[in-house]
Amino acid sequence: MTVLVTGGAGYIGSHTTVELMEHGEQVTVVDNLQTGHRQAVPDTKLYVMDIRDTQKLTEVLHQYRVDTVVHFAANSLVGESVQNPLKYYENNVAATAKLLSAMVDARVNNIVFSSTAAVYGEPVRIPINEDDPTTPTNPYGETKLAIERMLRWCHTAYGINSISLRYFNAAGAHSSLPMGEDHEPETHLIPIVLQAALGQREFVSIYGDDYPTSDGTCIRDYIHVMDLASAHRLAVQRLRSNGQVCESINLGNGTGFSVQQVIEMARKVTGVDIPAKYASRRVGDPAVLVASSQRARDVLGWQPKYADLATVISTAWNWHRTHPYGYQD
Ligand code: UDP
Repeated sequence: MTVLVTGGAGYIGSHTTVELMEHGEQVTVVDNLQTGHRQAVPDTKLYVMDIRDTQKLTEVLHQYRVDTVVHFAANSLVGESVQNPLKYYENNVAATAKLLSAMVDARVNNIVFSSTAAVYGEPVRIPINEDDPTTPTNPYGETKLAIERMLRWCHTAYGINSISLRYFNAAGAHSSLPMGEDHEPETHLIPIVLQAALGQREFVSIYGDDYPTSDGTCIRDYIHVMDLASAHRLAVQRLRSNGQVCESINLGNGTGFSVQQVIEMARKVTGVDIPAKYASRRVGDPAVLVASSQRARDVLGWQPKYADLATVISTAWNWHRTHPYGYQD
């Protein structure tokens, strides 16, 4: 039995590939390398191809006797999705429809899907529960929700079993292997703060200091990438042992940190007095996003191992410090 990881050369995909392999799984990776990095893929077969190539993909599913797909391949920049929504409908929704047809053709019934907290939009309560309303405020979240709904219909029609994992703020890096976050452009807070610590940016812009939070800056739930990876591994196991599953599960620690607290912790971890300046709010940013992680614990038996912010930031710092130019180094 093989797990096929689409988007396995990306940040979360590559860490999940490592986690699966470290637990004895056979893994084959498919990635078009549009945003992923060949060097991020551990020692396993990588097909540089698009998941829209249904014929080739069906062949790969047969050849490796794939029983479960873990699907990361997607575009994931919120701002870009607002500028160019059709790119997101094409590369996320239409491409996933193609992937699902190949799975139906090859009789592969299990899929773990990379979803997002962006499906909730402005939350109605904190912590956010999986049954809370889903009203995305940008095309990125909208396309991820459309895929979750497509998976539900595919469950009914073709018996495809799925677990959609709704990530909160992925951060950190593998604690011993040379792998980490490398996006171009970088838009996420923790790598931006660490780039400022390295002197690659003059300062960090804090988007908004007038939110209804204790220090006025936005609060997010930062989850270590290896804790995300272990949840994917457990989801694969659950699909194999339970079958008949079609569900969505939050992945967060259930604890929120403000932008200001993240910067302060990064100053402590790096020993650098990272410069920061207040700037205006970023459009579409909710004040607080914190997950209820109860379902992940109950259903998957998931336990985060790297839940404290200091560990999240220090593993990320170790990567950025040793690879200031990411995988180009
Ligand atoms: N943020 C910030 N400055 C930056 C990048 C991000 O103040 O240069 C804030 C952003 O407004 C949000 C939080 O940091 O409140 C996390 O943003 P990120 O883009 O990392 O993840 P998101 O929550 O948007 O998925």
